[in-house]
Amino acid sequence: MKMDDRHIRKVLVVGGGTAGWMAAAALSRYLPRGRTEITLIESDAIGTVGVGEATIPQIAVFNRMLGIDEDEFIRATSATFKLGIEFQDWGNVGESYFHPFGEYGYDMEGVDFHQFWTRLKVNGEHHSLNEYSLNAKAAYAGKFIRPDATSIGSVLSKMGYAFHFDASKYALFLSKYAQSRGVRRIEGKVCEVRKCAENGFLESVKLESGDEFAADLFIDCTGFRALLINGALGVGYEDWSNWLPVDRAVAIPSKSSEEPKPYTISKAQSAGWTWRIPLQNRVGNGHVYCSKYMSAETAIEILQDELIGAPLAEPNHLRFKTGIREKFWEANCVSLGLSSGFLEPLESTSIHLIQSGISKLIALFPDRDFNHTDRDEYNRLLSVSCHHIRDFIILHYVATGRSNSPFWKQMQVMDIPSSLKRKMALMRDRGRFFRYDDELFSVVSWLAVMEGQGIGPRRYNPIADILSDYNLQQSMKNMRELFDRTTAAMPTHQQFIDRYCKSS
Ligand code: FAD
Repeated sequence: MKMDDRHIRKVLVVGGGTAGWMAAAALSRYLPRGRTEITLIESDAIGTVGVGEATIPQIAVFNRMLGIDEDEFIRATSATFKLGIEFQDWGNVGESYFHPFGEYGYDMEGVDFHQFWTRLKVNGEHHSLNEYSLNAKAAYAGKFIRPDATSIGSVLSKMGYAFHFDASKYALFLSKYAQSRGVRRIEGKVCEVRKCAENGFLESVKLESGDEFAADLFIDCTGFRALLINGALGVGYEDWSNWLPVDRAVAIPSKSSEEPKPYTISKAQSAGWTWRIPLQNRVGNGHVYCSKYMSAETAIEILQDELIGAPLAEPNHLRFKTGIREKFWEANCVSLGLSSGFLEPLESTSIHLIQSGISKLIALFPDRDFNHTDRDEYNRLLSVSCHHIRDFIILHYVATGRSNSPFWKQMQVMDIPSSLKRKMALMRDRGRFFRYDDELFSVVSWLAVMEGQGIGPRRYNPIADILSDYNLQQSMKNMRELFDRTTAAMPTHQQFIDRYCKSS
């Protein structure tokens, strides 16, 4: 029998939010045209979650994978550039720090930069980490330039960037992309999911209109409803709210009243945190909070106080439970997006996890025999990624001196995962960091948060004594000056957008 005889003939994506259209677009790009039919069902009556506007640099890889022109994407989604996140009031009220999407300084003599930086700090010759971050310098100067192929070898290659974009425009952009590659879009509400009595695999979904759609492979992108993976297949949820107890959000877009900053602002509040995400045409604002300690009314009041332009819509209230699906792929159904779990949006990781799920699905793409080894590997890889991200998010809540509200008091006495304890201890002692299983966040991220929240390394790796005091001081001074000169030569963020990618 030829291998081809068992190929997947029909893929059905249920749900047309960011997850659904990212999946449909990527599959339409990678599955041989004419051999596998892709259909996406979405319900206008239900709509999408309506948030999810901040990304991390890996999104550019996804767009490139699809062959999307970056400036065209930015224009279509009213996007701005994101050089990192400013965290306000997290370590203590009145303090702030920057989590950059680029590197700190550069390594010398094969030794990590941050070990030299810690050596100077320990010896009392302290310059903040931001002085060695092109991302932080550019962000605070309101500057931006895109590092391109010609930057390789130059200091600009130390810069990384992501985007803030309008999530509904991104879904629309990808839907046009996918439909132009043969994806069929069906509008309607799924009211029934049929399973095979023998093996429990999904067979078809039925719409309220009475139409029925059968498929070999189903992608559940129905958001928090998790209609297929949970509703039909009964896959449970691993609840992480004991570590990440925020469970509500309220979002209000507002008018832009200043040029967009090339970074997100996350400000700690008494029972959670607020975000500010500047787009070209408006600002996205939201408040993520813990309902055990705060009412919806108070959450709105706090958010309204944070708005710097007039509100553009009524508050959008959302409920969630942090955690992950016990299996991301069960039988012939793969869950992507909110149906597969939600770790809360503090580090903008959800869209990345969609992208990561899609890449792994493509790498482990099944045939109709649905080899369980491939399925198990998919589940293992995604679970590991989520555990690493979970630890990094919890770090923000526990590495803090805040104890000025019942919520922050609970954070102070919370027992944290042993994996996180070990990482914090290694970093806290001598800035040692090891990246396991291709985990998402690097030493830059861990250092930014731990140092920014007042628990940075106490000592340095003795290897960093390799340079003399004089040579080290000179090198660090040269680095700071080079970063200053490079930043000064950049256009402003607004000038860059106006020149290359202004949306109409
Ligand atoms: P949804 O957008 O909810 O889409 C679900 C789709 O399923 C819709 O098309 C709906 O119509 C359809 N559907 C549901 N039921 C049916 C049915 N019965 N029949 C037919 N269709 C159906 N992520 C980030 O990366 N960065 C962020 O800054 C960020 N911020 C967030 C802030 C908050 C408060 C929340 C809650 C999430 C945030 N996220 C963020 C996550 C991000 O919003 C989601 O990962 C992303 O939008 C994907 O959502 P989705 O497509 O899975 O679900």
